[in-house]
Amino acid sequence: MHVADETWPRPADWQAGPPYGGAYTFMRVPPSRDLQHADIAIIGIPFDGGTMYRSGTRLGPRGIRNASGQMRPYAVDPQRLEEPFRSLRVFDYGDIELYPGYIEQSLARVEQELTTVIEAGVLPVCLGGDHSLTLPVLRACRKKHGLMSLIHFDAHPDFWEGGPGRPYHHGTTFRLAVSEQLINPAGSAQIGIRGSISASIVDEARQAGFNLITADEFARLGVSATLERIHSLARGPVYVSLDIDCVDPAFAPGTGTPEVAGLTSREIVELVRGLRGLSVVGFDVVEVAPAYDPAEITCLLAANLVYEFLLTLAAR
Ligand code: MN
Ligand code: MN
Repeated sequence: MHVADETWPRPADWQAGPPYGGAYTFMRVPPSRDLQHADIAIIGIPFDGGTMYRSGTRLGPRGIRNASGQMRPYAVDPQRLEEPFRSLRVFDYGDIELYPGYIEQSLARVEQELTTVIEAGVLPVCLGGDHSLTLPVLRACRKKHGLMSLIHFDAHPDFWEGGPGRPYHHGTTFRLAVSEQLINPAGSAQIGIRGSISASIVDEARQAGFNLITADEFARLGVSATLERIHSLARGPVYVSLDIDCVDPAFAPGTGTPEVAGLTSREIVELVRGLRGLSVVGFDVVEVAPAYDPAEITCLLAANLVYEFLLTLAAR
């Protein structure tokens, strides 16, 4: 635990100037790549070359940062948690420089940059971008932390097999992560799976060892029982990947492949709050596509989920 002083990085005072002004950083925390003086790095990964249907998540990091401008660093939470910026040095790392159209080079670049961040002992919080980007982040985390448990919120299991000679897209991420032994499926959970996907892909994910909680099963289980299951499964280092399409399109329409009958915004907030106590080594929010986001409600939800995650770290 660090002791805050006047040099401590803090979000800009929300009443000291226009909260829509200044640098476009997450919650207006200072921009920095000084890894020696950071605990958490907010990292934008503006790439959607892995998208199989509607693109647009390349603008996700901008959308989430924009929507975060109105947020204040407090917590109205039953547990009265202290706001995270007092105990954690949170910087906005900016975006990883990627060139559109080159997926393999982009994934390699993400892995390289994330390796530097993680080796410095800084916990990455990534703003996507499409879900193909989680693979290189997991690869980088694996080098430092070893085999991980995955807590994966998504409408889709992202466990499909890519075509011959083209293994990478946003629906193949976790099949590759298992085959590369980045994650231990038996210690992992996929929550919110639903929609017009084949039953066989659900069976395949389960046969690989994943604990898969469909949206229908979640509706019966509820938040508390789902969290109990997550905490009983997760072993060792945990990576949390949150595809915003786990949430119902009524609450999160701004995404490329929405599926009806998903989680509410309240349910996903409570699930993220419930991650408190897990040994989380990395977190991402992916698949936010601002072009389909009327009134910025998806971006605002994504920004709040990042903040709720930071609160869970401040509590530990
Ligand atoms: Mn999805
Ligand atoms: Mn996904």
